[in-house]
Amino acid sequence: MACSCHGKTRKTRKVKVGRFSIGGSSPVSVQSMCNTDTRDVKATVDQVRRLQDAGCEIIRVAVPDMEAAQALGRIKSGISIPLVADIHFDWRLAVEAVRQGADKVRINPGNIGERDKVKEVVKACKSAGIPIRIGVNAGSLKALREHPKPAWKPYDWARQMVKEALDEVRILERLDFRDIVVSLKADDIERTLMANTLFSSKSDIPLHLGVTEAGSFLAGTVKSSLGIGLLLTQGIGDTVRVSLTEDPVMQVRAAYEILKALGLRRYGPDLVSCPTCGRCQVNVGKVIHELEDRIYSDPQLLKKSEGMKIAVMGCVVNGPGEARSADFGVAGGKGRGIWIEKGKQIKVVKESEWVNEVIRKIRSSK
Ligand code: SF4
Repeated sequence: MACSCHGKTRKTRKVKVGRFSIGGSSPVSVQSMCNTDTRDVKATVDQVRRLQDAGCEIIRVAVPDMEAAQALGRIKSGISIPLVADIHFDWRLAVEAVRQGADKVRINPGNIGERDKVKEVVKACKSAGIPIRIGVNAGSLKALREHPKPAWKPYDWARQMVKEALDEVRILERLDFRDIVVSLKADDIERTLMANTLFSSKSDIPLHLGVTEAGSFLAGTVKSSLGIGLLLTQGIGDTVRVSLTEDPVMQVRAAYEILKALGLRRYGPDLVSCPTCGRCQVNVGKVIHELEDRIYSDPQLLKKSEGMKIAVMGCVVNGPGEARSADFGVAGGKGRGIWIEKGKQIKVVKESEWVNEVIRKIRSSK
């Protein structure tokens, strides 16, 4: 992927996942993972549809047992983005997931076990023409089976993660299988950065970026933004997933905000709002949250508002000045506000109508 921050490009091979591509010159894609019980087809399809509306491009579901694997075909027929089956421990689940039409399989080879079993998964994916993600997590390295508490420094962890990923890559490539994506995740930034940087110096395989078990919304978003963002600024990373203990829709939004901040993707508007202070006599926070909820759950509004700068400011002291650089916006008074378009004060709008007015303005734009 090419990063506008430094103009660097790390050349990766292109891998197809359903109608999307990862790597090569493809834009950095946004993934998420369902937190529903995969066996509950309705709940899973409902969640994927919400994620699709929020812009999720590839969705992964956990496949803990055969019943979940057998549900994949029904889930796939209810959604319109590529479906990834996340498999641990049992290679037969991966084979069934492929049979059900999964668009990609994620395996943690350290958990699948013997090489013969990995080979069976490769055989199935090869004949279906779908890729495999080798997902290496710092916490489940094979080496930890023999040394559960190694005295490793961060770089030793990173080296071991890369070694285990490349060992698996070798198995797949020896079977003439090259549609591979790799992820190297740790729950801290240091090891995540080191492992991905090291891997990218050794291979052209596209990288799926993420900081695993990143945490709550605030802590996890900060950690993910740094981990994922710093790699992307070096031109490393082809697809991202932000892991948060949150509604997966927020993971998608956080991922896009990272990409948007780096100039790598466009996603909805640039919503500008003031932090409010003692001068404020309107509820800026409520307006912004309502606006976000309306825009980010409606694919049409999301698309139409792309690239727009919309300002919601708390008062007329600084508000109009700040709102001037926006395409349009409002600066509060008491229960009402001045509506501003391209720097011009147009009219007065009641606070209770601000959200609707912004939505109307987005809808009526060409
Ligand atoms: S725009 Fe007004 S209310 Fe908002 S922070 Fe600035 S001075 Fe305070």
